[in-house]
Amino acid sequence: MYITVWNEYRHEREEEFKKVYPDGMHGAIAEYLRAEGFDVGTAVLDEPEHGLTDEVLAKTDVLFWWGHCAHEEVSDEIVNKVYRRVMEGMGLVVLHSGHASKIFRKLMGTDSYDLKWRESGDMEILWNCNPGHPITKGVGDKIILPHEETYGEHFIIPEPDETVFISWFTGGEVFRSGLCYRRGRGKIFYFRPGHEAFPTYYDPTVRRVLKNAAIWAAPEDTEKLTYGWVPATV
Ligand code: ZN
Repeated sequence: MYITVWNEYRHEREEEFKKVYPDGMHGAIAEYLRAEGFDVGTAVLDEPEHGLTDEVLAKTDVLFWWGHCAHEEVSDEIVNKVYRRVMEGMGLVVLHSGHASKIFRKLMGTDSYDLKWRESGDMEILWNCNPGHPITKGVGDKIILPHEETYGEHFIIPEPDETVFISWFTGGEVFRSGLCYRRGRGKIFYFRPGHEAFPTYYDPTVRRVLKNAAIWAAPEDTEKLTYGWVPATV
């Protein structure tokens, strides 16, 4: 399996966030996945073609996506290529503020992606509401993150095929934090935690979820199928 971790990589070049993620969030995630035995590459917004060349996309089984302040700088051409690959079966793991990315909005079929938010460093508890699901393997009852950005319902999003985590925050909000979708032949997992100011992607249980999500989202069947006009089968 080949994994590409894509990151906008703007916040972590500022001193405040560089302290948390010296190699960027993509670096922290890729380092862990490599240590778990996966073949992993990284790509960032400011590379030519955002690092997502035809060659990279063709070999990628699962693409991770983190974006926040520069969603509109992602070219429509690249978004369309990623979309086509998801239709063909490439898995996509959308992280945190990636909920507002062009690719996630296109796949969800809505531009209404609103939610409540607050950067107050509340504690987040992600409750496992789908034990036995491949993505919750090894997670147990819950994941406790001492400090995170708060997201709150209502989250304008299509009803997922499966809900895996529901978050609670100290301020009282709740949020659907782990959501599974299928689009075309591809599987998509949205995972909420991962604000740039907190070391969330170093948390061992969060990391376990990322690994589980990659395994879950990987294409199971890559047989070429025929679309468009066909002669009668019999
Ligand atoms: Zn954030």
